[in-house]
Amino acid sequence: MRPLFHPSLINDPFGDPGLYIDCLHERRALLFDLGDLRNLATRKLLRVSDVFVSHAHMDHFIGFDWLLRICLGRSRRIRLYGPPGFIAQVEHRLAAYTWNLVDSYETDLTFEVTELVDDSQCRAARFRCQAGFRRGDGQMVSLDNGVLLDEQDFRVRCTVLDHKTPCLAFALEEKEHINVWKNRLDELGLPTGPWLTELRHAVRAGRPESERFRVWWKDRTGLHERFYLLGELKREILRFVPGQRVVYVTDAVFHAENVERITALAAGADVLFIEATFLQADRETAAARFHLTAEQAGELARRAGAKNVVPFHGSPRYQDTPGVLFEELMRAYTRGTAGARS
Ligand SMILES: [Zn+2]
Repeated sequence: MRPLFHPSLINDPFGDPGLYIDCLHERRALLFDLGDLRNLATRKLLRVSDVFVSHAHMDHFIGFDWLLRICLGRSRRIRLYGPPGFIAQVEHRLAAYTWNLVDSYETDLTFEVTELVDDSQCRAARFRCQAGFRRGDGQMVSLDNGVLLDEQDFRVRCTVLDHKTPCLAFALEEKEHINVWKNRLDELGLPTGPWLTELRHAVRAGRPESERFRVWWKDRTGLHERFYLLGELKREILRFVPGQRVVYVTDAVFHAENVERITALAAGADVLFIEATFLQADRETAAARFHLTAEQAGELARRAGAKNVVPFHGSPRYQDTPGVLFEELMRAYTRGTAGARS
């Protein structure tokens, strides 16, 4: 099956953090973090619908101005998500410019901003170009299991990490694919038709297996109906294929609570993008700056059972020996296995 998401880092492993995720079949993309975005083509930036910011340290947020610059004068709605205090930070960035002429613009660029309040709720605000980007407060929204965005085909979940400031890590989760076994359908003498879409909806909505489900179709002889238990159809004709998971973890100190949260979020990820900022030999510096070492990042990927791991956010101090962080990470990641995983 072709993957729905195509993630790629915007900069080299020593550049500012930023992960661009193209959504196949849709003219749409997601961004994790807003570091230096100048390497991203304008046409790609214009596809971004949702931006997830881990925290507002400069190397993760300076790209906001570039996003604003590219999108200004266009009718676009961009949703931004960030840690506690994020709405005020967006507000201040916008307030740094003069907006005396924008009320006459025909277009209305809008930022809808959501910040985490605590584990169970978020606060929303809106900034409209035609209103001079003055803050318009929105509602409190409940946060269920860390899910920030819940779309038809995927969701984005977050967890809060400790970076001496709350820092969000994100998981992009494609929803389970529900496929139909065509040969089982033939065995039951059932034709394909709109009822299969109804069946998928019923299963996605979590309706009880004991519920009666109507299979129907029309042909030359008229309308045909048969009734089955939902659970029976689910077992007989449907096949469930797990969706793709892309996880993004950056700026976190290696301590028990962060380890637990990261391994839970990254469990079984198809690909884990994770910061590998310092070498283990410099672990004291890493701890003092609340960052991970490459060995710690590899160990987290191994414990989480991530299928692939991609390091980023290397400290410039290793720029002359660029392979060392990657090698240290891979040694920890593949420890106890015969060789590198695919
Ligand atoms: Zn950082």
